[in-house]
Amino acid sequence: MSFVDFRGQIYYNNYFKYCPYKETNLTRFLLKFLRLTVLLSCLSGSLALLGANWLWRPGAFDKIDETVFVGDALYGLNENRELACLPFLQADNELRDWLRFQIDQVPDAESIGSQALIEKLQEQNPSIAGASVYIVYARKPEDLIKKLSDWSGTLDDELTHFAARLFKSPGYRGIGCVALMAEKLPLFSPALLSSKADTFYNYCAICKRPHLGKISAASRSIVLECPLCSKKYDLLAVSMKGDYRRVNDYLLGFEPQVLLPETKTRRDELYAVWNSVLEHCRYQKDFAGAFGQRDSWQTPVETHRYANGDCEDTSILLADWLISRGFDARVALGRTDRYDGHAWCVVELDGEQYILETTDTTPDPRTPPLVGNIGRHYHPEFLFDREAIYFRRNKGWVSDYWTDNAWIEVTHGGEVIAPGEVASRR
Ligand SMILES: [Zn+2]
Repeated sequence: MSFVDFRGQIYYNNYFKYCPYKETNLTRFLLKFLRLTVLLSCLSGSLALLGANWLWRPGAFDKIDETVFVGDALYGLNENRELACLPFLQADNELRDWLRFQIDQVPDAESIGSQALIEKLQEQNPSIAGASVYIVYARKPEDLIKKLSDWSGTLDDELTHFAARLFKSPGYRGIGCVALMAEKLPLFSPALLSSKADTFYNYCAICKRPHLGKISAASRSIVLECPLCSKKYDLLAVSMKGDYRRVNDYLLGFEPQVLLPETKTRRDELYAVWNSVLEHCRYQKDFAGAFGQRDSWQTPVETHRYANGDCEDTSILLADWLISRGFDARVALGRTDRYDGHAWCVVELDGEQYILETTDTTPDPRTPPLVGNIGRHYHPEFLFDREAIYFRRNKGWVSDYWTDNAWIEVTHGGEVIAPGEVASRR
């Protein structure tokens, strides 16, 4: 029997790491030493000689071009990263603007702690997975760049972006620089998964809050679950071509050009379509897929063309065909008393709900497969049609595939239309 495995595939979590720069005893000692040196230099009368190199001159700060400084600093950092075989950091305007705002809105930039800054960054920027902040001081921009290059925190292979803001240090320490390096993640999309990216940020379709996500590259069928509200809200599966698609996108609006027998009632028509799928498609366990991959999904066109498929392939073909003929049909994924992973088609017609098997059944109109009759053997976890995915509200037996009491309806790219859900949101 075919196997639709959507269980245990939730690799979604919120993770955030940071490595704030901490002033060490050594740096404190060196700063004291520097101050002492300057003091001694003044006393010894070599002020003129040292002034050009060491002493801070008021007004000099305004002459520094920060864009040039950031470019030079980045060059130095990337030289180190190249030696360590790490990908280059990029300057980031969004981070730059955010950092500028944070530094410029406080009267005393020195009072900003790296830890507090990182926490704020995480709070306000959902795309940031990790960050490192370094607050450093020097008498000259060149020395700042030198100090930044020596920052071992830059050698983290997950860091992607860089930004820096200079400020006037009111104390003896000259120019201050807040350097920020971050791991910036892309926004989730099925196309992104197809491009083999496994970390990203996303907005939960139910509570609407952003969160970070990481998905195992080995996952073929993916359930996205929000770590904040603990609700499942998205369902994706890999196609025969190897790209990820949202499950709705397998229902293409396909109706095979097949001559169906003349029918009198809608129920007869339902049976005619169902019989046609059963007769046309040979059941084939999905063991290889197109590129030797396990469990890839076929579109209805592919299933009809190849005249075979496993349970989800034929259920998708049947549901798509029925929907094309105006039936209210959905694909159900879950398990049955006999099989751990299974897919079937459900249809609501004249107030009755039918469970349509597409693998090992001989339809007999005298014993219609109504949910009321055989539903107790089926345990659906997810449903989908062309527009929405339906997630279970609670555990337990589902006697109704259409009630809002049992299902949370989620549409992507549109509004969530789950009546019971709206009130409890946030
Ligand atoms: Zn949520």
